[in-house]
Amino acid sequence: MSIIPKPAEIMEKETVFDIKKLSKASGDPSFKNEMEVFNIQCGEFIYSGPETLVCEKDSALKDESYELSIDPGRICVAAAGGAGIYYGLQTLRQLLLSCDKEIPCCKIKDYPRFSWRGYMLDCSRHFFTVPFIKKMIDALSLHRINKFHWHLCDDQGWRFPVKGWPALIEKGSRRETLNVPGREYGGFYTAEEIRDIVSFAAARHVEIIPEVDLPGHTSAVLASYPDLGCSGGPYRVEDRYGIFEDVLCAGNDRIFDFFAAVFDTLAGLFPSDWVHIGGDEVLYKRWSACPKCQKRLEEQKLSEARELQSWITHRLVQMLAERGKTAIGWDEILEDSKQFPLPENAVIMSWRGKEGGLEACRRGRKVIMSPNTEGCYIDYKHSEDPEEPGNIGISPLSSIYNMDPLCPEMKESEAALVMGGQANLWTELIPNGRLAEYMSFPRICALAEGLWTPKDKKNYEDFSSRLALHRLRLDRLDLLQYRRD
Ligand SMILES: [Zn+2]
Repeated sequence: MSIIPKPAEIMEKETVFDIKKLSKASGDPSFKNEMEVFNIQCGEFIYSGPETLVCEKDSALKDESYELSIDPGRICVAAAGGAGIYYGLQTLRQLLLSCDKEIPCCKIKDYPRFSWRGYMLDCSRHFFTVPFIKKMIDALSLHRINKFHWHLCDDQGWRFPVKGWPALIEKGSRRETLNVPGREYGGFYTAEEIRDIVSFAAARHVEIIPEVDLPGHTSAVLASYPDLGCSGGPYRVEDRYGIFEDVLCAGNDRIFDFFAAVFDTLAGLFPSDWVHIGGDEVLYKRWSACPKCQKRLEEQKLSEARELQSWITHRLVQMLAERGKTAIGWDEILEDSKQFPLPENAVIMSWRGKEGGLEACRRGRKVIMSPNTEGCYIDYKHSEDPEEPGNIGISPLSSIYNMDPLCPEMKESEAALVMGGQANLWTELIPNGRLAEYMSFPRICALAEGLWTPKDKKNYEDFSSRLALHRLRLDRLDLLQYRRD
């Protein structure tokens, strides 16, 4: 059956279901959305004969869990809510995508190990089209990845309109091509496109978490509004990659007007409870030299420029809370926070290894593990082959498969704060969706199993043998994949 991620319990039967008898999904009207999406996804397999596929409500099951029973004349998916029904139908979709004439009869009971099963796509370094993003979200949902972290702005481009701040897209969206003059490149997502993507994702039980990276990685903001910087510029939307010294001026109150406008916009576009505020790789050289930043330092009784970041983070978290949102930040926001401790509700995304996450849960903060040291940076190459595309390091499939969001040294109360894990696709060297697919698959399959499947059922050899068949499903969905593992 080779289902990925591997279900918690599978009981195979001797019999088979003839796929020529598969009807549209029907059943409990509260699952109308899930059934409709499945009927579209699997339209090519559906036969207009008597009803054979039924979705039923079973309130005794836990959130996201499902039971799938396949018998010769009938397939039944049962769950308490829409997410469980959707995942049961995706398991069936996997079986359909890899079979010729019949699927094995079985009974599956399934539920996730972690609630946060995430994937991040950087749409600033390179811009990705709406159809590609939808294709990727649909593929994520086939693997029960349920969080799409949308990195919407960075030094190399601001990708959504903010009311009252038009230059962010007029200048900041970097609508040009790096090396081919005359060919339009870049741009931004309109509010209408964002709503369309959000609802497409919600129908597939994928939640979209927007990220605005603050106060560093903001060249696109500074090029649009130079008065938000310490020196006043000139600045440019970067077409180079790296960490830049120019960041938002911590001594300028106008940055908070800017944050307020951005957060109002995000709150209007994204129903998610979370907003990612970045916070990574801030350089402090400008703050050390800026009279306004120095004045702020004195006012706040801080001794070093770097401590201003925790003061800003404090305000950002508060501003989001006022809008009903919880902040997530990269693990740097834990640092230099003696005077302004990280607010209790802020969530840490641990990327420089798992140490940040470990420290955060010791301090009672929630954590998402995305360590670049354990395969979660999928912009890194698949292998050492010098002809492979990718950035900096190597993230082999076995590494992301074996990444466990929990650490042996965590106490039970600390482990309970770990929400799950995530793979991040930074796109400095990934100029288009085809290459993004190649970097993502099959690493997403490995991540999904690592976060969904009960730990005692995980086995890399077994995963590899199932992957052989699963690759046919990826092919059938026209997803490019790395094949040498
Ligand atoms: Zn300044």
